[in-house]
Amino acid sequence: MAGVLAGMLADRSLIYRGRFAPSPTGPLHVGSLVAALASWLDARAHGGQWLVRIEDVDRPRCIPGAAERILAQLAALGLQPDAPPLWQSSRGAAYQAALDQLRQIGATYPCGCTRREIDEALRAQGDAPGRFAERIYPGTCRDGLHGKPARATRLRTLVDGAEAIITWHDRRLGTQQQNLTRTVGDFILHRADGLWAYQLAVVVDDGAQGITDVVRGEDLADNTARQIHLQRLLGLPQPRYLHTPLVLAADGHKLSKQNGAAPLDTSDALAALRAAGTVLGLPDLPAASAADWRLAATRAWAARWGPPNPPPNPPPNPPPNPPVDRPSMA
Ligand SMILES: [Zn+2]
Repeated sequence: MAGVLAGMLADRSLIYRGRFAPSPTGPLHVGSLVAALASWLDARAHGGQWLVRIEDVDRPRCIPGAAERILAQLAALGLQPDAPPLWQSSRGAAYQAALDQLRQIGATYPCGCTRREIDEALRAQGDAPGRFAERIYPGTCRDGLHGKPARATRLRTLVDGAEAIITWHDRRLGTQQQNLTRTVGDFILHRADGLWAYQLAVVVDDGAQGITDVVRGEDLADNTARQIHLQRLLGLPQPRYLHTPLVLAADGHKLSKQNGAAPLDTSDALAALRAAGTVLGLPDLPAASAADWRLAATRAWAARWGPPNPPPNPPPNPPPNPPVDRPSMA
């Protein structure tokens, strides 16, 4: 009995929930469609649910109407979410509760440093930051604000002298490891301008939405260790990760709005889906329509990335006397 239940829980295909989480800083382009399609295909290949989350937490960077345009573009390609989208701009109370929880266990501290003070501290320790380099916080406020007013809230990555070294498995890239203390440092959860940090918002929302599988572009792989560290501190389950290849621009950099990616043309859905499928390594699939292609692509994806065995339908040996008032998964 217990064995059957454990087997059902271990079979992720029965409880798969994935998401596509665009920032509404512009319409979908070829690169962001690849990420959307990968997460959609993985959810469908596992017989799971696919959700969309609008990551509009960094409001000054968001463009009015972009989220609606992204949702319309997805709909034009037949990529329909299984629930209404979740908007991060409506989630402040949940982020505050998570921050309070972290503060109560002593995992955070207030930081009063300006960017210039951080640069000066790094220079003083012989570690001059490059103009565009990510700064590794030198830990100035770890033991107190020294009379400065608090500006931001940071997460400790050094506890009792122990560094935070995070190891995880990526379904495509294999075993990954990052020493958070040395390569990232104590990172910000709540910004000096009052905005919530991306890392905290993603972790809280993945937990609240019951996300079992994160499928996203490889450019975001570098965030994974920070997010796993936060999941552990908040007592949230760790999803599986699959980071997909990126579409590169002519200059070899990731294709983005900043280096001239054109808005995606969805007037020919089949052509748009085919182009994204090629980036994801799907073979040239015979299809007369976008709907045909989505079906063929789901089969091809399942053959490569799907569950090892087809999900049992119905599940064998259901446990006797199931509770009648089981809470909904939604
Ligand atoms: Zn500081």
